[in-house]
Amino acid sequence: MDYKKHIQIVEDWPKEGVQFKDITPLMDNGKVFKSAVDEIVAFARQKDIDIVVGPEARGFIIGCPVSYALEVGFAPVRKEGKLPRDVIKVDYGLEYGKNVLTIHKDAIKPGQRVLITDDLLATGGTIEATINLVEELGGIVVGCAFLVELSYLNGLGKLDGYDVLTLTRY
Ligand code: AMP
Repeated sequence: MDYKKHIQIVEDWPKEGVQFKDITPLMDNGKVFKSAVDEIVAFARQKDIDIVVGPEARGFIIGCPVSYALEVGFAPVRKEGKLPRDVIKVDYGLEYGKNVLTIHKDAIKPGQRVLITDDLLATGGTIEATINLVEELGGIVVGCAFLVELSYLNGLGKLDGYDVLTLTRY
């Protein structure tokens, strides 16, 4: 499937110099969206996944249909202040400033096999922070899956030793 045909590039958004990869046209098309989800499900089926984890917000869009197809749970990773019960948190650097991500303390049981999903791998900071949360709870990250990889930002460099699937690359 040629996913790039369905990803729209928006120049200088959300700020100057950024080429935003908008995946909403891909999601608008049921056949293309299903094909992308099916590829990730096929990757995950080889790994005996117990639970899918995704960071807000687009990690939910990819992760939830995958967890539904695999008949396993989905655990959200959210920005600070959004999850209502006890959480653990991690700080990570953004290009400007920093961000905090959280997960419920009981979202992952020690030894569970985890697939992490997001729409896009850029610098890898978000996914590295998500991995840190999962591993702190004793989860085993057996795969990471993305629709899009921006290879010029070398996010893969932060995912050494992990099994990564990306469906299309820029
Ligand atoms: P990073 O932590 O740098 O890997 O950034 C990953 C997150 O930021 C992903 O969840 C993306 O949704 C979003 N993101 C970063 N850069 C872009 C971009 N150029 N186009 C679309 N989304 C982006």
